[in-house]
Amino acid sequence: MTDIAVSKSAKIFVAGHRGMVGSAILRRLKQGGYTNLLTRTHAELDLMNQQDVLAFMQQEKPQYVFMAAAKVGGIHANNTYRGEFIYNNLMIEANVIDSCYRAGVERAFFLGSSCIYPRDCPQPIREEYLLTGPLEHTNEPYAIAKIAGIKMCDAYNSQYGTRFVSLMPTNLYGPNDNYDLTTSHVLPALLRKTFEAMQSGADEVVVWGSGNPRREFMHVDDLADACVFMLEQNVEDQLYNVGSGSDVTIRELAELICRLLSFSGTLRFDSTKPDGTPRKLLDVSRLEKLGWKASISLEAGIANVTASFAHTPPWPE
Ligand code: GDP
Repeated sequence: MTDIAVSKSAKIFVAGHRGMVGSAILRRLKQGGYTNLLTRTHAELDLMNQQDVLAFMQQEKPQYVFMAAAKVGGIHANNTYRGEFIYNNLMIEANVIDSCYRAGVERAFFLGSSCIYPRDCPQPIREEYLLTGPLEHTNEPYAIAKIAGIKMCDAYNSQYGTRFVSLMPTNLYGPNDNYDLTTSHVLPALLRKTFEAMQSGADEVVVWGSGNPRREFMHVDDLADACVFMLEQNVEDQLYNVGSGSDVTIRELAELICRLLSFSGTLRFDSTKPDGTPRKLLDVSRLEKLGWKASISLEAGIANVTASFAHTPPWPE
């Protein structure tokens, strides 16, 4: 695998730069010395509007694109807003991927999620397991949309000779995460619940489901680092898993959060809430072979996120 000399002044569009993933990619690009970074807020450019996206891309002509814009959420949001999850994500992807091709983008990186893989596939999950079995019901609409994005990148690469690469991160957390308890993922939800229990003097934290599902967590700064690494590599494959390489049960995660926040109350498991996929651990050997590995441990990553809580919790008080 060879390094590519990417000019520090190359124009790079980060779609979705206000989200957790997009903002991390933007930070990492700036750290790496990239100076010509292109962004648009939702109010400035609606990525679901095909004509606007195409006009923007043809006018700006970025050389590289990171597609971090998506409608995302935790198990409850995915399972409740099923129509929005499939429609919004299909529209955004179709518009951005097609416009990348039409505007002559040199290379583009499409970001998805580990839920694209079959619910009961062997662990750790290799890229080849895509489309080998039925999906988890709770996030099937989102997963179908993301699979469509991957396949659209592949199809454009094969018909038009584009160089689009799909990166599938595991469960992410970090700065600019969503702490709304009805739509968030488990890690920010448990951080908030534990923090609020301590503040109010409550002696228990409610954990959804059985606590038995296993999840792999990665700090978003690790993903951003992988994204910039990929930008600077000449890669052959079209799909790469990006993960930390190890997983924990939801119970272990809750216990770790209690320990790190010094909460001495108890955990109560709410069995009326769904467990979702039993396990989702990515095989990251394809990316490791290129020379990249995650470096932020779960403990260090959580400590990084909670450092600012005491002064300004990242949710409305
Ligand atoms: P998933 O990875 O797509 O299933 O998304 P989540 O991060 O939302 O959920 C992961 C697991 O954590 C599921 O088994 C949830 O039931 C469990 N979980 C436990 N407590 C919570 C919580 O407070 N919020 C969320 N979103 N999930 C929770």
